[in-house]
Amino acid sequence: MTDARRALARKRDGHALDEDEIRAIVLGYAREQVPDYVASAFLMAAFIRGLDTDETVAMTRAMVDSGITMPLEGVDRPKVDKHSTGGVADGVTLVFAPVAAALGLAVAKLSGRGLGHTGGTLDKLESIPGFRTDLDAETFERQVNEVGCAIAAQSADLVPADGALYALRDATETVASVPLIAASVMSKKLAVGSDLILLDVKAGSGAFMKTVEDAEALAEACAGLARGWGRACRVAVTDMAQPLGDAVGNALDVAEAVEVLRGDRPGRLTDLTVELVAAAQESLLGISRAEGADRARRAIEGGEALEAFRRLVDAQGGDPRVADDPWSVLPRAPVVTPLHPARSGTLAAVDAEAIGRAAAGLGAGRAKKGDPIDPAVGIVLRAKIGDVLDRDEPVGEVHARDASAAAAAAEAVHDALTTRDQRIEAPPLVYGWRE
Ligand code: URA
Repeated sequence: MTDARRALARKRDGHALDEDEIRAIVLGYAREQVPDYVASAFLMAAFIRGLDTDETVAMTRAMVDSGITMPLEGVDRPKVDKHSTGGVADGVTLVFAPVAAALGLAVAKLSGRGLGHTGGTLDKLESIPGFRTDLDAETFERQVNEVGCAIAAQSADLVPADGALYALRDATETVASVPLIAASVMSKKLAVGSDLILLDVKAGSGAFMKTVEDAEALAEACAGLARGWGRACRVAVTDMAQPLGDAVGNALDVAEAVEVLRGDRPGRLTDLTVELVAAAQESLLGISRAEGADRARRAIEGGEALEAFRRLVDAQGGDPRVADDPWSVLPRAPVVTPLHPARSGTLAAVDAEAIGRAAAGLGAGRAKKGDPIDPAVGIVLRAKIGDVLDRDEPVGEVHARDASAAAAAAEAVHDALTTRDQRIEAPPLVYGWRE
C-alpha cells in the first residue's frame, strides 16, 4: 500500500495525488493505521494546496468506501436527503425533516456535529434527553419507513472516514476548504440512497464560504460529485450574513425549532425551510414550488409537522414531551442575562462567525476533538439586519454556566453587531439555485 507519509509530503510540495495515495491516507486513518498527526498534516497540506477535481472525487470515493452503503431500496416514499454546509442558528434540518415527512416524503439523513463556529444537528438533537443518533443500518431504514424521517450519525459502519476526519478538521482549523467540505458532505449523501440530494450551501459571515462566489464554487463542487455518481441534486446558495434563526446553541435551537413547527415563529428560518421543502416536492412530487410552499405551511399550521417531529424524537429514544413543552425536558443554563446592543441604530452587519464562536466559548461547541458540549448554554439574538435597535431594549439573552462566561459572550456579541444611522435593506434569503 502507498505510504501515507510519502503521499502527505507530495501534497505538501504541491503535487496532485493519485487515487492510491488519497486512499492510503483516508482509509488508513479510518482504520486507525495512520496516526492523527499524519492525517492532520495532510489536511493542512490539502487545505493550503487544494485538491483538484480528480483528487476530490478520489477522496469522496475513499470516504464512501470506508464503510457500508445504505441503498434504502425498501423505502417506498420518495426520498430526499437535505444537507447544509454549516451556519449559525441554522436549525433547518430540525424543521425540514418533519415537515417533509408530514407531506409524504422520506428524509433519510446522516448529519454532522458542530464544526468550527457552526452548530451541528446531532449535537442539537442530543440535547433532548434520551435522543440517540447511533442508529444501525437496519433500524435507520425501518424508521424511515415507519416515521418518514431518521437523522443519524456517521458510524463505524457508515462513512467512518468522514466521522474521523470531520472531528480532526474541527480541531485543526482545516474546515473552510471547498474540496474538503465537498468530499465530507457528499460522502454522507452518496453513501445513502435517495431520489434527491438537496443542498443548502451557505454564504456570508457565519458560513465557511464568506462570499457568494466561494459558495457557488462549493455548490458546483458538490453538484459535480453528484453528477459523477449519477445522482439527482439541487443546490441553493443561501444567506448566512447573520444567524438564520435566533437561537445559537443546542437545547435553544431545539426549542426554537419546536416553535417554528408550531407556526409560532415566522421569519427567515421558517421561510427558508418552506422554500427547501417546496423545492423537494417540486422535484419528487411534480408539483409547483408555490403549491409546495403552501402545503409546507399548511402542514405546520395543521400540526402534522409537529406530530412528525414528536414521532421522530420518540423513535430515536428521545423524550417526546419536547414537542409539547420543550422546556419541561430540555436542559436550562443556570445564568440567563439580557443582551443589549452597544449602541442604538439600524443593524447593518453581523459577524455571525463571532457569535458562533462566542456560543462555542460558552460551551455550546468543542475547543478540541472529543470535548463534551454543554447542551444548555448559548446565545439568543432576535435582531436581524435592517431592524432598528434601541440600546435600552434587549435584543436577546446569553444562557451561561456563570456570570463571567455570560459577560464575555455579551461583549463578543456587542463587537459582532454593527449599527448605522441610515436605513439598511435586509439581505436576500436565497442567492440562487443550481439545478
Ligand atoms: N457539513 C459537513 O458535513 N461537512 C463539512 O465539512 C461541512 C459541513
